[in-house]
Amino acid sequence: MASWSETKRRQGRRIAFVPTMGFLHEGHLSLVRHAKERGDCVVVSIFVNPTQFAPTEDFTAYPRDLSRDNRLLQAEAVDVLFHPPVEEIYPTGCQTHVEVETLSKPLCGMLRPAHFRGVATVVTKLFNIVRPHAAIFGEKDYQQLQIIRRLVRDLMLDIEIIGHPIVREADGVAMSSRNAYLNAEERKAAVCLSRSLRKAECMVRRGEASAKAIIEAVGAEIKNEPLAIVEYIKIGDLETLDEVDEIRDSAVLALAVRIGKARLIDNKVLIR
Ligand code: AMP
Repeated sequence: MASWSETKRRQGRRIAFVPTMGFLHEGHLSLVRHAKERGDCVVVSIFVNPTQFAPTEDFTAYPRDLSRDNRLLQAEAVDVLFHPPVEEIYPTGCQTHVEVETLSKPLCGMLRPAHFRGVATVVTKLFNIVRPHAAIFGEKDYQQLQIIRRLVRDLMLDIEIIGHPIVREADGVAMSSRNAYLNAEERKAAVCLSRSLRKAECMVRRGEASAKAIIEAVGAEIKNEPLAIVEYIKIGDLETLDEVDEIRDSAVLALAVRIGKARLIDNKVLIR
C-alpha cells in the first residue's frame, strides 16, 4: 500500500482516501464518488478496528462481506481496496495511541469512553500508510468528523479533511451497516430518529431557540416509539461540541438511540 502511494505521489497524482469498516452501502459509495471528484486516484480501506469496540460491544458480530464490498468498489472503479489484517495494524508490543482529549468526552464518548481513542489511533495509522492528500468522512458520524479535523490540525498532518452529507433511505433513516441488526418491525421504528430531527428543524425554522425546548420535543417524539430507548439527545457547538442553551446562528443536534440490538446515531445541523 505504502509503495503504491509513494509511486502515485512521485507521479504528482492526488490521492483521495475513504476509510470504512466495510459492509458497504450507498452512504459509503457516495463518499467514494465524492473522493473521485477530489482526487486523481481513490483508496478505500476496509478495517473493522478492534480498539474502537469495548469488550461488551459488537466487534465479532459486526457485519462483514468482503467479496460483495470488493464487487461494489470495482463497479466504482476504485484504484485500491486496502484490507489489512489486524496483526499488521496492531503488531505485538504496540503501546502508542492517539487521543483527542476534550472532543472525545461528550456525546458518544460518554457511553463509549475508549471509542474515539481507538478511532483516532487507527485513522492516524491508516493516514501514515496510505499517505493521502485528502480524506472523506461522513457527517453521519459528526463527532468523529470533528475529532479527525482536530487531530489533523493538532498533529500538523498535511491532509485535507472533507465532510460529506448524511445519505438517507427513502423513509429518512440514515444508512448504516448496523441497520442490518434490525428486524422488519425495528427497521420501521428506526424512522423515529430522522422524524424527530425534522421536527427540531421545523421548530428552529419557526423561531424556537431554546435547546431545552427542542430536546424535550425530540425526546417526546422518540418516546412515541415503544421500541426506541434514548441514550442521549444533545445540542452543541458545531466545532467544540460544547452544549449550548440557546441556538444563536447554528448548532448540531445529535442523538443516539437503541432499537433492538442496534445502537443508532443521527444528527442534524440546525440553522436559524
Ligand atoms: P463506517 O464503515 O460505518 O465506519 O463508515 C465509514 C465512513 O462512511 C465514515 O466516514 C462514516 O461517517 C461514513 N458513513 C457511514 N454511513 C453514512 C451515511 N449514511 N451517510 C454518509 N456517510 C456515511
